[in-house]
Parts: sequence; structure tokens; C-alpha cells
Amino acid sequence: MRIIIFGPPGAGKGTQAKRISREYNIPHLSTGEIFRSAIREDMPLGEKIKSYIDKGNLVPDHIVMNMVERELDKEKYEKGYVMDGFPRTVPQAEAFNTLLESKGRSLTALLVLMVPEEELIERILNRGEGRSDDTLERVKNRLAVYREETKPVLDYFQDKNKVEKINGVGSIDLIFNRIKERLERALENNTT
Ligand code: AMP
Repeated sequence: MRIIIFGPPGAGKGTQAKRISREYNIPHLSTGEIFRSAIREDMPLGEKIKSYIDKGNLVPDHIVMNMVERELDKEKYEKGYVMDGFPRTVPQAEAFNTLLESKGRSLTALLVLMVPEEELIERILNRGEGRSDDTLERVKNRLAVYREETKPVLDYFQDKNKVEKINGVGSIDLIFNRIKERLERALENNTT
């Protein structure tokens, strides 16, 4: 099962991806988490990556793709995964699709968490994770980046009939139940 969990910053992607990972026993791949750990561990590109993240901007596609391709080569992703925070641009979506095709795989579903913008800002400012990009000014920029660069990814997958819109307002359990329902349905229509 290969799932993308999609949506604006603060929509609950990380939280729901962790639930999906536990329920279906597939690894959770979060590009944001991988970048944050590269920064913490002072990896070679850490400083450069930090300069993008701290402004609320996207890390350049070639850095993202390089990291995702290397990560997905690991054996633990063989049986599937839930991806959170990727793809975030149309070129990333295209490169990911080519990668899947080259392995003879297909995406099970792209789940979009739908949450109104006012609620997103409130959630992020209240989540208290201490992230350097969780300030009002940066959140506003991240939302603008989402609208301009990331949302077009939806059209790309819509054409492939993979998009499942999920109401992202409500308790974590309620939203997770909505996700499960959609996933069961998507699984019935997918074999690879
Ligand atoms: P996230 O944890 O998904 O909110 O990601 C935090 C930050 O990491 C984003 O605001 C971007 O700066 C960077 N990032 C994560 N994933 C990607 C991606 N697929 N493409 C570009 N930048 C990314």
C-alpha cells in the first residue's frame, strides 16, 4: 500500500500519517522530519536546508528528489509506505511518478486533508512543537507557498484518479476513521 497524505501546513498530516503507519504496518516517510534530523545531526547539506526551512520556503527539488530516491531504496519501503510532505511541487510529483513506474508500482491513494485556513493558523501557532518555522509570519508564507506551488500537485493526481478528499476538521479519531473508510475503498480498486 502506497499512500500520500497531502494538505496545507497544520492540516494534521504528520499525526494521521503516524496512525496510518501503525494501523497498516507500513513505514512513515516524512521529508520534513528527514530534513530536520539532517539539520540536527549537522549533515553535509544541513545548513543549506535550514536556510530554506527557516524562511518557510521549499527546499529545492533536486535536493528533495535525491533524498527521497535514496530513502525509498531501503528495504523497509518494499511493501509500501505512507508519505507525508512529499510531493510538494509538480516536478516532484512527476519525478515520483516516473520512479514508481520504473519499479512497476502504483500509488494506492492520495488523501487530502481539507481544513479552513483560519483553523490552520490557529492550530500551528498552538501546537507548541518549538519549530523554527511555526511563527505567524513564516506560517503565512508557508500557506502562500502551499497555494502557489503545492496545490497544483492535486491536479496532477486528479487526472490519475487517485485523489481522496477528507474532511480534516474534528477529533483525531474521527478524521482517522474517515481515512480508514476511504483507504478500504481505494484498496479494493488497487492491486499493485
Ligand atoms: P513539514 O514537516 O512537512 O511541514 O516540512 C517542513 C519544511 O521542510 C517545509 O516547510 C519545507 O521547507 C521543507 N520540506 C519538507 N518536505 C519538502 C518537499 N517535499 N519539498 C520541498 N521542501 C520540503
